[in-house]
Amino acid sequence: MGYNPIVHTLYAAHIFTPIDSEKFLYLDDGGLLVDEKIGTILAIGKYDDLQRRAEVKGLVFARNNTYIDDYIFPGFIDAHIHYPQANLLAAPGANLLEWLENSIFPGELRMRDNNYARQVARFLLHSMLSAGTTTALIYGVTFLEAMNIFCLEAEKTGFRAYPGKMLMDTNAPKDLLDTSAEKGYKETQQFIKDWHGRGNIRTSIALRFALTSTPQQMRLTSKLLDEYPDLIFQTHLNESEAEINDVLAQNPDCHTYLGVYDEYGLHRKQSVYGHCVHMHNLEREMLRVTQASVAHCPCSNLYLGSGIADLKSLENIKLGLGSDIGAGYTYSILENAKTTHVLQKLNNYYIPPAKLLYLATLGGAEVLRANKEIGSLEEGKKADFTVISPRQDKILTRLLEETSTVKKRLHQLILLHNPSHIRATFIDGYKKYSVEHN
Ligand SMILES: [Zn+2]
Repeated sequence: MGYNPIVHTLYAAHIFTPIDSEKFLYLDDGGLLVDEKIGTILAIGKYDDLQRRAEVKGLVFARNNTYIDDYIFPGFIDAHIHYPQANLLAAPGANLLEWLENSIFPGELRMRDNNYARQVARFLLHSMLSAGTTTALIYGVTFLEAMNIFCLEAEKTGFRAYPGKMLMDTNAPKDLLDTSAEKGYKETQQFIKDWHGRGNIRTSIALRFALTSTPQQMRLTSKLLDEYPDLIFQTHLNESEAEINDVLAQNPDCHTYLGVYDEYGLHRKQSVYGHCVHMHNLEREMLRVTQASVAHCPCSNLYLGSGIADLKSLENIKLGLGSDIGAGYTYSILENAKTTHVLQKLNNYYIPPAKLLYLATLGGAEVLRANKEIGSLEEGKKADFTVISPRQDKILTRLLEETSTVKKRLHQLILLHNPSHIRATFIDGYKKYSVEHN
């Protein structure tokens, strides 16, 4: 009658998942038992054990051996990405402020056209899924209608999105700004009311950065944070030196950039700061005390020449990875993990593979305060995972065959990762993206 009573699937694969920032679990003959009805992981373990246990329980389940030679990872978490910049990758610009003015603001203005916004929303969601990303903290655009369009598209895919209507009311093209601080505040309230908690959408509060908001807008945003203490607040901090100089020149009473956000009541536990490349000791201490988080975006920092963040000095601070599309040139969070690894060596800071895996997954979940639900493959968590298949990559396949330890294998999978290795991406146990290899 077309009714399929089987709502459980047992996947066979090699499985990597983080335990914490220092440890990970690897299952060579791994099994992932997924409950598609509620979208969670019923069990993870050795395939044969899971099969036996499921049979003993009398569970009806389908066996899926499609990925038996591939690697299952938790879905990647992008802690910093811009919706209206989805198709503005590799836009010309010598540095942050010049790139914003000449390439990004004109590009974002096009989002007033709803048809264009819909195309951009679809492009963004597809691009993230094709990179193995299942969750993202997303900066939106000022236009409420374009935000509604994004959420409608995100809802269709089931993507785990944390979008925020962009708040900006000064220092950019007039047509891109909130017409008043009050209007930006009210529209954010409306956006939250309409979308927060709908399907997999959790709205966030997004203020671009200190240079594009008036004191009045920053105060009203602080009011929003009081009203919605459970929502994530995102903004940019200490990305480039020229930006910092401008912020401090505009706020002569503040000693640091973070001091400006603090002054207006925006420095909170719920705050997620993008970049943090040039940090003052005082600011690190403020992050530690408040338990705010950082979204590290190494590919973007390279592209705009903003600098190399000193991650060693941020060791006790919650940290996730962000693509920062469109300043970042790749949607791949693993590519950002790889770049983190190589760049931090220039700071004499070695980041082992377990931590890279953590940063790309569970670290991001902690930043979003969603680590009880996502970020690793554990019983009861959401069945969000991505399948990495290096089979078409002759060099990596050969290296993996010859590799003696699991740590080395993980290292090679990350350091030699190419987005074309992503074979399939699942959210809530359902395949949202796949590319079938020949
Ligand atoms: Zn950004």
